Amino acid sequence: MIKRAIQQRIEEGLSELPVVQYAWLESSELIFSERVRDICRKECPRYGTSWACPPGVGTVEQCREKCGQYEGMFVFTTIAEVSDIENMEETLRTRHGHEHITGQIRALFADCGLDTLALSGDSCARCEKCAYPDGACRYPDSMIPCIEGYGIVVPLLAEKAGIEFENGRNIVTWFGLILWR
Ligand code: SF4
Repeated sequence: MIKRAIQQRIEEGLSELPVVQYAWLESSELIFSERVRDICRKECPRYGTSWACPPGVGTVEQCREKCGQYEGMFVFTTIAEVSDIENMEETLRTRHGHEHITGQIRALFADCGLDTLALSGDSCARCEKCAYPDGACRYPDSMIPCIEGYGIVVPLLAEKAGIEFENGRNIVTWFGLILWR
């Protein structure tokens, strides 16, 4: 469980960021499923193109083990309004703001001396062209993998956290996760 003083310090920092909802949970509350990985494989164009996506992130079991090395987790959402949520290009363009906020939240944890693993709603797009698979990741300490790519069932995570999975028509809801120890 996170120390009260550290939680307060992080929440003070959060009050200055456009976070919609957040919750503090134990890392053991994460639920993983091979079915999520199947969806990545069959439906996501990022599959097999990045160190932040499967299979580059490892098997679901390896991802579960990695998350299990952290004591607790912080889950949060940000939202972005689009003119047409069915327009994937427009929807995906809004992810950069969320990635930026995820990095800022991770920095709040780091400032409190905590080691973190951050996961976000989409895979890392830091480099114009990912080094995968020919070279190692250029920024392994700061790249942010995709939550679903880890095999995490996000609707169940939202339910456990008491966080809305959707926030209305033409509103994109992005999830972020900071595992800490
Ligand atoms: S930091 Fe660059 S090399 Fe590493 S996962 Fe992200 S895009 Fe790929």
